Amino acid sequence: MKESQKDEPRRIAVLGATGSIGASALDVIAASGGRLAAAVLTAHRQTAKLAGLARRFRPETLVVTDPEADRAPLAELERTTRVLYGPEGLDEAVSSPEIDVVLAAIVGGAGLRGSWRALEAGKTLALANKESLVLAGSLLFDLARKNGGRILPVDSEHSAIWQALASCRPAETPYGASCGSDPAERKDLVRRLILTASGGPFRNKPLDELRRVTVGEALAHPTWKMGKKITIDSATMMNKAFEIIEARWLFDLPPEKIGVVIHPQSIIHSMVEFVDGAVIAQMGTPDMRLPIQLALCGMERRRCPAPSLDWSRARALELFPPDEERFPAIPLGRRVARDGGSAGAVVNAANEVAVAAFLAGKIPFHKITGICQSILEHHQFEQEPSLERLFELDRQARTETQTWISD
Ligand code: NAD
Ligand code: MG
Repeated sequence: MKESQKDEPRRIAVLGATGSIGASALDVIAASGGRLAAAVLTAHRQTAKLAGLARRFRPETLVVTDPEADRAPLAELERTTRVLYGPEGLDEAVSSPEIDVVLAAIVGGAGLRGSWRALEAGKTLALANKESLVLAGSLLFDLARKNGGRILPVDSEHSAIWQALASCRPAETPYGASCGSDPAERKDLVRRLILTASGGPFRNKPLDELRRVTVGEALAHPTWKMGKKITIDSATMMNKAFEIIEARWLFDLPPEKIGVVIHPQSIIHSMVEFVDGAVIAQMGTPDMRLPIQLALCGMERRRCPAPSLDWSRARALELFPPDEERFPAIPLGRRVARDGGSAGAVVNAANEVAVAAFLAGKIPFHKITGICQSILEHHQFEQEPSLERLFELDRQARTETQTWISD
């Protein structure tokens, strides 16, 4: 697939345009001075919101992935804009030859289909949907290699690591050229990756009080403003578990080389310690627009609409080792990263069902990670499941988790 010519805008398909990452991505596109264009916007059910975005960004194609969604808000737009419905509509829009970059910003395992189709069509995949790699990291990288696609990180930690890795280019590489090349090629120079984590709202809460935290408390993230599901994942630290798995695939490193530190200020977005002992960190305000922009622009540096750090203000940056008794999701994530195979699909499915149950007031907060552990313990591990088999295991794990919750 040929990318747009230099003076033409790079054409972006924003999957999950009505979400939190979608909004930040559209901000980046609006501020790009015509370098980036929103060619496809997708939403699951929020058709009125999608119609508003379509009037502002004028994409050629809209996709509503839930075929049952209310179509009325899009009726007028259908005269001028192609509107597709259902998952097949998403397949069609993503694989169109007109698209240069697919931004995967759908939440949960539902995002895997779009990521898969994008790589099947040899596109550049700007990946926010970490669940795609949790479910099927190995298969997605095989697919990217086979069809000439690439996966660029959007998650702030992985973007930080990518930027830090770009600091150790081979001497003969022209300045700047290494930034977009495969950072996994530098893995021999890495002693360890250090993912930072804010620790969420319950970092200091007495352990026995975790049983009684409310949905509102769990949704009050101290530093980041995000969609509901990832906000709960941040409170349990399942988000960090998923990021260990994500890093394992993106940077092709074993989980022993992927550490986690608690950094409550969310200024250091992650670090790389190299074999010579140098530690390179990337810092900035907690704002997703920079990592999104880097991924949409092939990791090139440009002006960004995100605010910069205020250096006139005194600030302290703290770093603590995580308490794994408080956050058992971290060792769970390391284990899933080591095992690979079917483990990620099962844990992800159990987590989605458990988080939805917590949000609906059906289970207490402290049970979420335990449910994921139990479902993982009881599943029959498979080393090399196909994509179809992963979807089947995902469905089974969802049903088992539902049963576990209702018992
Ligand atoms: P969100 O809940 O705000 O938005 C989700 C989007 O996905 C919406 O556009 C929604 O219409 C769409 N969607 C929901 N269910 C769908 C389905 N079944 N099929 C198709 N589309 C569906 O979520 P978010 O916070 O923007 O997160 C999106 C992804 O990015 C997640 O995987 C998350 O882990 C990742 N991420 C988010 C942030 C952040 O700051 N929000 C940071 C890093 C990574
Ligand atoms: Mg992150």
